[in-house]
Amino acid sequence: MDNCIFCKIAAKQIPSKTIYEDDDVIAFHDINPAAPVHFLIIPKYHVATLAECNESHAALLGKMMLLAPKLAREAGCGYTPAAEGPGQGGFRTQFHIGPDGGQEVYHLHLHVLGGPRPWRGLR
Ligand code: ADP
Repeated sequence: MDNCIFCKIAAKQIPSKTIYEDDDVIAFHDINPAAPVHFLIIPKYHVATLAECNESHAALLGKMMLLAPKLAREAGCGYTPAAEGPGQGGFRTQFHIGPDGGQEVYHLHLHVLGGPRPWRGLR
């Protein structure tokens, strides 16, 4: 879509620190990180917001969600349920939807935040 910054990142028209890419999605570091690890997972094709998704997006959304723990692990903030106690890692996922949800870029994206505490994250 014209004038969509994330479409331009997906099309490599503007640079990003890409950490994962396949035919459907691309993941890259957030330019203004709110945690030691902060990356975004986006579809390559334009979808404005989660609120516009329907059944036809189910596979895409499933792929995005399942990539989060995999890429978080690769970025050093994965979570292994068997590993109990402090410092066992973990991360946060966020979709921002619409103005009251804090969405500023209207191209669907999943925030993944993690790393050693303290960090404030996104509001
Ligand atoms: P918010 O800015 O409130 O988090 P969004 O949920 O729409 O709103 O998130 C957009 C995210 O995209 C922000 O975290 C922002 O830092 C990030 N961002 C904007 N432009 C770029 C870019 N060129 N490369 C990487 N991340 C970007």
